[in-house]
Parts: sequence; structure tokens; C-alpha cells
Amino acid sequence: MGEWKTVIGLEVHAELETDSKMFSRCPVVDSVEAAPNSAVDQLSLGMPGTLPVINRQAMEFGIMVGLALNCEIPPVNQFARKNYFYPDLPKGYQISQYDRPLAVNGYVTIELEDGAAKRIRVRRAHMEEDTGKLSHFLGGSLVDYNRAGVPLLEIVSEPDMYSADEAARYARKLRSILRYLGVNSGDMSKGVLRFEANVSVMRESDDELRERTEIKNLNSIRNMVKAIEYEVRRQIKLYHSGQTVMPATLGWDEAGQRIQVQRYKERADEYRYFPEPDLPIVEVSREWVSEIRGKLPALPDELQRRFVEDCGLSAAEAAVLTAERAVAGYFQAVVACGADAKSAANWLTTELFRLMNSYEIEREDIDSIPISARSFAGLLALAGDNVINQGTARKRVLPAMWETGKEAAAIVEEEGLAQVSDATLIGDAVERALEANQDMVRRYLEGNDKVINAIFGRIMGELRGKGDPGVVRQQLTERLKRLNDQR
Ligand code: ADP
Ligand code: MG
Repeated sequence: MGEWKTVIGLEVHAELETDSKMFSRCPVVDSVEAAPNSAVDQLSLGMPGTLPVINRQAMEFGIMVGLALNCEIPPVNQFARKNYFYPDLPKGYQISQYDRPLAVNGYVTIELEDGAAKRIRVRRAHMEEDTGKLSHFLGGSLVDYNRAGVPLLEIVSEPDMYSADEAARYARKLRSILRYLGVNSGDMSKGVLRFEANVSVMRESDDELRERTEIKNLNSIRNMVKAIEYEVRRQIKLYHSGQTVMPATLGWDEAGQRIQVQRYKERADEYRYFPEPDLPIVEVSREWVSEIRGKLPALPDELQRRFVEDCGLSAAEAAVLTAERAVAGYFQAVVACGADAKSAANWLTTELFRLMNSYEIEREDIDSIPISARSFAGLLALAGDNVINQGTARKRVLPAMWETGKEAAAIVEEEGLAQVSDATLIGDAVERALEANQDMVRRYLEGNDKVINAIFGRIMGELRGKGDPGVVRQQLTERLKRLNDQR
């Protein structure tokens, strides 16, 4: 199947965390926690005689996202009616934007597996309103209109992703940017961020893209990857058996781990788009745009660049540290407390992340861990100054800090964990270890060089792990050399 290339374009729906809905004062509530239909007004229900009013905060959030995605912000926006009937859409139309969207021609930079950067073009981002939520069960369906009318930004990419992995990287980066901006929690399980994948395959020799399908119902990035890989195999199989791919809307069936055809696709003209007569054209002044630009926080790409240029981190380390704003902030705080940036990055992404994983704490919740950035910097200082060795720092002090909330220095003091560098003490330990492990010594002297690591381990054991590794190794090498010369 190697001669087939995968082509993917993503359409992303992001709810914007405004106080009120897109076209009314009705509050926006948490779609999972709030009681069904507890945040509903006449607008949400599409009552006749109501009139929409544009939410300025939603427009600002949308423009923020557009700018963060390197888009142009056209000076004129227009809303449009997209007509279709569905029980979660009581008006019979969705207010959206059609040919005059909020943002156009941007891009998102992703890091590929090999560390190279790739730009995924963003075709457009437009404002619309979310629909209600249907729940189906045996014998009926229920509808909750809390979500109806919540501001929704649809972000449409160009078909620039060539594997499920690239699509996942784009999705994660976009999620990260939205979270940095504070306009969307990125919680896919709650449906506030939804991805739809357009998928086709082509041969290297094709001049044009082939027919695509669109996969909906992707409630996690992991499932999106599985669904894309499944769909690519399905399409290739169709072509191999002489059939064609029909444009269709597909759903990912999580229980069955397979694709299901939901319906064959509508074309845009079937929605009978026309300019929304109840809303004015929105002029987006250049002053407004630059005012919003001035409020943008440092974004992951910018932080990543700074971490590489100012702190000397590798691109990969910087990418891991900047994926979550909270992690980047924690790292910056550790460095601000005087820690060496390289070792802070290293300890954070290995040891601290490992501990967080074992306590099942998400990276975004790093601020809730029992080790403050200052305490963590304190541990790094003790290890950096060789007051304790790396192994003690990692295996004993860090876990004890987590469990007790105490400072590293206090733990080292109380438990007597300070590194042993005293040459006499170490010399004694070397003697004891060689005495107790004569068999290993013999194998070493017979030419098995690797045994030296095992002997080293035994000496460290004698020193309860606290020996200065440099001094231990030096004394051991000298002692073995003398034994060898005596032979
Ligand atoms: P429509 O106008 O019918 O909605 P678009 O051309 O605007 O379709 O594309 C919608 C999405 O599908 C975009 O994200 C785009 O990148 C993607 N897309 C378009 N053609 C293909 C293709 N052949 N293969 C994969 N994705 C595609
Ligand atoms: Mg849409």
C-alpha cells in the first residue's frame, strides 16, 4: 500500500468561553455539570419575534484566535443563514458566516517527529452559534438547549496534513493555542472542542486531490488518529477493488472501533446560505484589531523560540515545556529562582513528569502539585552543588518532598542524605566491597571490563547511595589498577 499518500484537512469547532451566548444575554454554562435546559432563553429556543444581538466579547475572542493563527482579519464581517432542519436547531437555521468570515489565510506551525517544523495553512475561521445537544436512548431522544447559541468558532485548515500523526500534532497545537488564549478549555470529553477530519488518499502520480470523506464524532485526539487510519485503509481497499470513494459524512463508532457511514454529503448550495437579515454588517476597524493584538499573551511558538534562544534548550525540550501554559510558567518560575535552565528542563520533563504521572496529575494541573517552583529549584541547587548526588536527589529527596511538602534541604538534613565525598570513608567502602565481591574482582581482572559497573553499584550500596560518584569511580579504578599490577 506504500504508493498511496494520505491527505487530511481538519475542520475544528471551538466553543468560546464567553459569559453569555453569541446573540443574547443568556448565560453560557458548563454543558456537563448544569442541569439540562437550565440556561435557555427565547433566542436559544428560536422563538418567533426575537432578534439577535452580536456578542462583542465573542467577536474579540474570535479575532484573538485569528491573530494567534497568523490570519488576516478582513475589515468587514457578515453573518449568514445556513438553513437546515434538525431537532437540536429549533430556528430551522444556524447563524454562521459564509463568504465574509472573521479570519482568513493563516497557519499553524507543527513540530514533526524528526524535529523539523511544518506549516499547516489555515484557510479561514468563522463565527457561528452552537446547536443544542441530542441524547438518544432506547425508546426516545432528549434535547438539551443549554448549548444552543453558544459562540462557536469554526477553524478550517487546508488539506496540508499527510498522516494521522501530522493531524494529531496540528490538533494538539491548536488546542494548546486556544488554552493559552484562555478562550477554550480544550476539554474534548465535554465537547467544547470538536475535530472533524476530511480524509482522502492519492497516488504520487495524481495531479489532483481525490474525493474525500468527512469523519465526525471524534471525542479525543487518540480516537481521531484511529479513525483516520481506519478510513485510509478503507479508501485504499475501495480503489484496489475497482470502486470509487463517495463523498460522505462518516462517524467513528468507538465501541466497535470502526467507521460508519452516516449520510452522503450535502453540498453548500443545499444550505441556501443568504446574508442574515436580522444582523448588521460588522466593521472590524484596524484600531480594534491592534488593540486586541496588544492583549495577546505570549504563545507557545514564541515561548518555544525564547526557550531555545535564551535558555539553550533543544527544540524538542522547548516544545514539551510549552505545550501547556502552566508547565511553561512553572519552568520559568524555577529558572527565576536561580536554577540552571538546562538541568531544570531535564529534571522537569523526566523526574517531575514521572512523579506527576504516578499520581495521575495532568500536566496542565502542575500548579496544584505539593512541590512549588521555589522548592524544586532548591532541590536542583543541592544536586548542582554536589551536596547530594543525582541518584539520592531523584530516588529519595524528590519523592519525599512530594509526600511531606518539606524543602529538599530539610529532608537531606533530617535523613542524613548529604553526599559522602570524604576520601577515607569512600576508600573504606571500596575495600569492603572488593573484599565481599572477590568473584567479581576476579572476573574483572580476567578481562571482563563491564563488571566494573556492578562493583561500582556495590560500593554505592555500602555508602547507602550517597557516595560522590566521581570520587568513588576514581578510587575504584585506582584500586583495581593496583591489583592488576600486582598480578
Ligand atoms: P466544502 O466547501 O465542501 O466544505 P472545502 O473544500 O471547503 O469543502 O473543504 C473542507 C475541508 O476539507 C477543509 O479542511 C479542506 O482542507 C478539506 N479538504 C478538501 N479537499 C480535501 C481532500 N481531497 N482530501 C482531504 N481533505 C480535503
Ligand atoms: Mg460548519
